[in-house]
Amino acid sequence: MTPAPLLDFVQRHQRLFVLTGAGCSTASGIPDYRDAHGEWKRAQPVLLQNFLADEAARRRYWARSLVGWQRMHAARPNDAHRALAALERGGRVEQLVTQNVDGLHQAAGSDNVIDLHGRIDVVRCMACPARVPRAEVQAELVRRNPAFADRDARMAPDGDADLESLDFAAFDVPACARCGGLLKPDVVFFGEGVPKERAARATAALERSDAMLVVGSSLMVYSGYRLVQAMSQAGKPIAAINLGRTRADDLLSLKVTEDCADALRLLERGAGSFAR
Ligand SMILES: [Zn+2]
Repeated sequence: MTPAPLLDFVQRHQRLFVLTGAGCSTASGIPDYRDAHGEWKRAQPVLLQNFLADEAARRRYWARSLVGWQRMHAARPNDAHRALAALERGGRVEQLVTQNVDGLHQAAGSDNVIDLHGRIDVVRCMACPARVPRAEVQAELVRRNPAFADRDARMAPDGDADLESLDFAAFDVPACARCGGLLKPDVVFFGEGVPKERAARATAALERSDAMLVVGSSLMVYSGYRLVQAMSQAGKPIAAINLGRTRADDLLSLKVTEDCADALRLLERGAGSFAR
């Protein structure tokens, strides 16, 4: 496909609200949850309610996360992240909102980012205000569970990994060093809402923007779909780059069915690095 319609869209709208999803990070080696039809590719991730209520669910989560983090931590930005950072430097991005928890937009140089679903590199205590770098928790997980640390496994977008064959009963989960409380990655789990203040900042940015560009999201998660709906209700145009169908296909002014990195690379070349 020629990038012309997408280039035209980006050039016509100076204040873009960019919403990114898992498809933006697949070229960095972080796999997508869903296939081209928006269906689960793998087992559904842990629900917040199960994580909080069930110690076995927590052992299983942290065991898989211990393995998944090693690849998540090693992931580097790809051309999609770099092109969006260039778009911001060119003054075209009013706000970038990502559903990803990998921090790769910031690693690529984007400054104006709302991590809608939080960040996997931070762990918080559910009982006190403590927040610790995931790297510290990882070291503790490895120290307590050396047998798990050597495993490699398929990984999910939230740093989770498939380890179904292992016995999790012996897995030793650390508690908060300050109060002994339950530790949870600072990401929005399935079954959990986006914090109100964060959702309000995204909505305010939406109101300041004159168009929306969705990059690599099937919009199956409501927190993202809700923003697209609000944009549509405001009568503002929406473009999407996504390999498969999205939940909002009928709300789009432009759909680019292509890999995010490919489409954005072409866009950047066509725009002359988005210089004004
Ligand atoms: Zn605590």
